[in-house]
Amino acid sequence: MALGEFDLIRRFFAGTALQHPFNQLGIGDDCALLNLPDSYQIAVTADTMVENVHFFADVDPNALGHKVLAVNLSDLAAMGAEPFAVTLALTLPKVDEAWLQGFADGFLALARQYRVDLVGGDTTAGPLTLTVQAMGAVPRGQALLRSGARPGDLIFVSGPLGNAGLGLKIRQGLPGADGGSALQSFDRPLPRIEIGLALRGVASACIDISDGLAADLGHILQQSGVGAVIDWDKLPLSAPVREYIATSSDWTLPLSAGDDYELCFTVPMAAATMVPAGCHCVGAVEAESGLRIRRAGRIEQLQARGYQHFA
Ligand code: ADP
Ligand code: MG
Repeated sequence: MALGEFDLIRRFFAGTALQHPFNQLGIGDDCALLNLPDSYQIAVTADTMVENVHFFADVDPNALGHKVLAVNLSDLAAMGAEPFAVTLALTLPKVDEAWLQGFADGFLALARQYRVDLVGGDTTAGPLTLTVQAMGAVPRGQALLRSGARPGDLIFVSGPLGNAGLGLKIRQGLPGADGGSALQSFDRPLPRIEIGLALRGVASACIDISDGLAADLGHILQQSGVGAVIDWDKLPLSAPVREYIATSSDWTLPLSAGDDYELCFTVPMAAATMVPAGCHCVGAVEAESGLRIRRAGRIEQLQARGYQHFA
């Protein structure tokens, strides 16, 4: 007989001891109970992944478990929040124990890595859909908002751009590409938690790059009421992405491709020395609105729109 809802929860998701001191009661009651010291605020986010919209039906369930948690932790990283608890709403077409084991292993391994507890959720039958809600702690008033960029601030990214976009192209059948690291970036992005924490009191604005640098930096610019210029030559690119651009001439990939989950942040000039090692300065904030790109000796206006559902 197939596992029922309660056995499924117990077998795959419950039973591990709570790791984070803020969490008092986890899976098993009507609600979880979380306690935060008065000096903290809770940063809360949720992201849903739907089969055939966000992932392919044949995706490795372990990678999927990793990714649905990683994209949520990435939002916490972008706020400078320390993750401590998540909930998981699972809608499954059927109970496939091997699939569930892989999914739970991928999910819980990443949770352990960041000392995040799975404190509750919901389990229903229906088209495969995964929703994670993540909660992070940030000292009162220190969250990194999108709205704080000012003219003269420098613009940084936390790591290479376009890797996951190239990984997606390879998954979709791009011939001839050697994409081990690109596929890894697409399947198992790492949330930049440590960098987000190190940016408290340093960055004036921050966002995670889920829809591409142009679109996501665009949100910072719009919400801060400023513009920017990006130097194409300063964009950090992996060897496979450089090679892809050289052969395809598709130089917009690192600006337009999503799913890298690096952080993009702005820093006042005076704080530039406090930016964590490994981050790259790629441009500067300007008073004039709009996003411009400096490339091959020219400056051009960039029209950036990330992926939009319903659009
Ligand atoms: P209720 O019907 O009261 O909402 P449920 O029967 O849905 O409770 O869930 C029982 C317990 O298991 C609750 O603590 C709930 O948070 C937890 N839970 C349910 N589904 C999941 C899941 N997919 N992952 C983690 N916890 C879950
Ligand atoms: Mg329920």
